[in-house]
Order: sequence, then structure tokens, then C-alpha cells
Amino acid sequence: MQHNLFIYNTLSRKKELFEAINPPFVGMYVCGPTVYSDVHLGNCRTFLAFDLIYRYLQVLGYKVRYVRNITDAGHLEGDGDEGEDKISKKALLAKVEPMEIVQTYSNGFHNIMQQFNALPPSIEPTATGHIIEQIELVKTILENNLAYIVNGSVYFDVDKYTLTQNYGILNNRKLEDMLTNTRDLGGQNEKRGKLDFALWINAKPQHLMQWPSPWGMGFPGWHLECSAMSNKYLGQQFDIHGGGMDLSATHHTNEIAQNVAVCGKSPANYWVHTNMLTVNGQKMSKSLGNSFLPQELFSGEHPLLDKGYSPMVVKFFMYQAHYRSTLDFSNDALNASEKGFKKLMAAYSLLSKLNTSEVNQVDVEDWQSKCYAAMNDDFNSPILIAELFDAVRIINSVNDGTLSIDIQNLQLLKQTLQLFIEQVLGIDVDFEGDNNTAQLMDFIVDLRNDAKQNKNFATSDKIRYGLQQLGFEIKDGKDGAVWAKK
Ligand code: AMP
Ligand code: ZN
Repeated sequence: MQHNLFIYNTLSRKKELFEAINPPFVGMYVCGPTVYSDVHLGNCRTFLAFDLIYRYLQVLGYKVRYVRNITDAGHLEGDGDEGEDKISKKALLAKVEPMEIVQTYSNGFHNIMQQFNALPPSIEPTATGHIIEQIELVKTILENNLAYIVNGSVYFDVDKYTLTQNYGILNNRKLEDMLTNTRDLGGQNEKRGKLDFALWINAKPQHLMQWPSPWGMGFPGWHLECSAMSNKYLGQQFDIHGGGMDLSATHHTNEIAQNVAVCGKSPANYWVHTNMLTVNGQKMSKSLGNSFLPQELFSGEHPLLDKGYSPMVVKFFMYQAHYRSTLDFSNDALNASEKGFKKLMAAYSLLSKLNTSEVNQVDVEDWQSKCYAAMNDDFNSPILIAELFDAVRIINSVNDGTLSIDIQNLQLLKQTLQLFIEQVLGIDVDFEGDNNTAQLMDFIVDLRNDAKQNKNFATSDKIRYGLQQLGFEIKDGKDGAVWAKK
């Protein structure tokens, strides 16, 4: 398979020609959410970036096994080896079973990803469903003398590992720098070395989620689950491992060490990391309290928002930045994306109405190859979108008669736009691209605005209620009402 797809590999710190281990099969593992609360838009950005990658690899003809886990145990507060389990803490507060928390937020996550029209992964394994596999890995690491037991906990011996391996390989960090710059992750009185991390943690009796193990009752360390599940479903070595950039220094660094300690091999050939969604330049995060929920963005119910934006507009906004660049979230940026998106959808729905001519003035093949080139260059969606706007210009010129296109080129233009808009970007045009619905809704909302202005509140309420029944939300803003699909 020869596509000349280049992927930036965090491990080598450069773009590399992608070569699958067993073409046409590709194994891709992405660290999934910790389901103790709703996913915020930052999390969604990362998962949507991998949806784009998943979709494009399939468009290129690869058969992708995409594994994205659900972290439902072992992720402690502060991301360290001490403190409360995030899920248990929430369960205690809400007086429910931890698995009720897990179910609630897994459902919420799936629902949001569906609203974004993201494809479900091929396998979505959970940490609690793979305790046996995790215990097996700990046993092997102990057998290989790269871990030690203290009071029922098992720690990875980083000092010993570094005798033969480069622990900071993923981020090209020197051990001395890591020793001075790494924060204390807890359990320090039991650890032999500062960088050691827990593979298995001895559980206090009151700890809600604990399992029997050769070392007593306990639970797995956070990094272990991904090694166990990627090994089980993709093998000891697979093609792509992904996650947000914030995972690379500790979580993924430790995953590499675990895998090497088990089988002597680094797990993934390509490490792909997404950059952060920021708010006023600061990473969007639950703990910083600056996070936006997707639902708030769709409905516009947030003090910092002027109005709501549909899931497809939000996704389009995200893809207007490359996945390795930071993306700052603001009303103005979203407004600009919405305008661009509407322009694209309007042109897309014009396609079926265009007249063809004997004379052709459009080189669609050249334009098509630029679309592929953009995506082949490390999934460069902003460049792809710029190419799509080039097609908008062509469509509008053909429509107003300043450019002519023949039937073959129009067919190719249609097919290519459909491929990149619907299959690669995953835009659900059934709703968004249905310009008739959009225009009709604008018209009805306009009628309602008139009714309100004429103080005909019975009619304006009737319209709002009627649209609600049909699945549309009307929201009054300072520039009149806007509508969104619920
Ligand atoms: P978590 O549920 O916190 O473990 O995060 C799930 C995924 O979202 C991880 O891959 C994180 O790296 C990623 N993530 C967290 N915050 C952001 C953000 N502000 N922008 C982009 N990705 C993020
Ligand atoms: Zn992980």
C-alpha cells in the first residue's frame, strides 16, 4: 500500500512515512476518558482528532482495529499513586455504587461522541474488566526483576530499568532533569527511587474498588491498564498509540517502560499526541475550573457564550486547527467557524443544481490531489479545509456562470467533496447540510421574532413549543432568537 502518509511521531520527534506492521491492518490504541464526570470540550478535541485519524486511515484502505479504553478504576486524584480513586470519591459523595458513576459518565461520553458524529472504536475495554490481565503483567515484571513489593504494593523499579533502557525516551528527557523536575506522586516512603511508580496498590479496607491479588487486596496503578489492554487486543507491538500531550511525560512514558519490562519491546511504532484546547491561553481542565461542557456549547447556556453552536460547527472549529497546535476557545473564533461552515454547506447543497458545459475550466484532479496531500501531511485538517473552500469558490463561480465545468469534472468534484466532508471530517450533512431545513428554520424563527415584536406572545410561545416537540431548541439572544437541534 503506497499512500505516502506522513505522521509526526513523538518518539522520533519528526514526521515519518507511515508503515503499518501488518498492512493492510493497523492497530491503534488511544487512552480513553476517566469516567468520573462529564467529558469537557478539551477531552472531546482529543477524541475527535483520533476520529479523524481513524476515518482517514480507513479511507486510505487500511483495516483499523481502534481500541479506546474506559478508565473506570485506578486513576487517583492528582494522577499519582496516593489519594482517592476519582470514581470512588464521586460514588461516596453521591451515595451510589462506583459502577453507577462509571455507567452514567460512559453513557454521557458515548452520547456526546455520537452527537459529534464520531465513529465508535472497534473495542472499548475497561480497566475493571481486565484486572486478571493486569495482575499477569505485574507478575511478569516482577519475574523480570524490574519491580519490587512493599506492604502489598508493587512498584516499578525505574533505577534498575535505566541501567539498560532510556526511561525518558518519549520526550527526550535526561534522567537527571526528570529527577529534579518530576513532582512527587505519592507513596514516596515506600518507593526506592523518586521516579518509581505503582503497578499495584495495596487497598485500605475502606477503599471501594479492590481485588484479590498475589500481594493482597488492592487495585492496579493507572498506567498498567493501557499496557494490559493494548497487549491483549493489539499485541506487544502495534502501529499507533495516541492521547493528549499531557499524557506523554508520565502515563505514556510509564506504559513504554512497562511494555519493555514485559517483553523487551516498545509498544507502539508511532506515538501521536494531540495538543490542548485552551481558554484564554490556559489548558481547559476540570481541575482548573475553566472547562466547558459540550452540552453548554450546543445550548449556549454558559455565562461566557453569546449563543449555542451545533455539534458540527464545534467539530469544524476544532478541525480548523491542526491537532498538534493549541486551539483557543472563544466566541469570536466559534462565530467565524460557523460562518465558514454555513458557506461550505451552502455550496455543498448547490452541487446537485449546477449546470455542466462542454467546456471545462476546472482542474478537479489537481484539487483532489491537494486534498489528499493535506491529509497525508500528518492529517493536516486546516489545510484540507482551505482546499474545501477552494471548492466553494469553484462551485459558486460555476453557479453564477463565471466558470464552466464538464460532467466528468463535476462528478469527480461531488465524489471528492463527499469523501472529505462526510467520510473524512465526519460531517453529518443530513442535518447540517440540509439547507432546506436550515432555511426553513431561519424563516420560522424570523416569523417568531416578528410575533414577539408585535407582542403576540401566544403565537411566539406556540412556535417555540411546537419546534421543541420537533426536536429544535429556540434561544433568545441580544440579536434575536437562534435555533439549534436538541
Ligand atoms: P482524562 O479523562 O482527563 O484522562 O482525559 C481524556 C483525554 O483528554 C486525554 O487524552 C487527555 O490528554 C485529553 N485532554 C484533557 N484535557 C484536554 C484539553 N484541554 N485539550 C485537549 N485534550 C485534553
Ligand atoms: Zn492510557
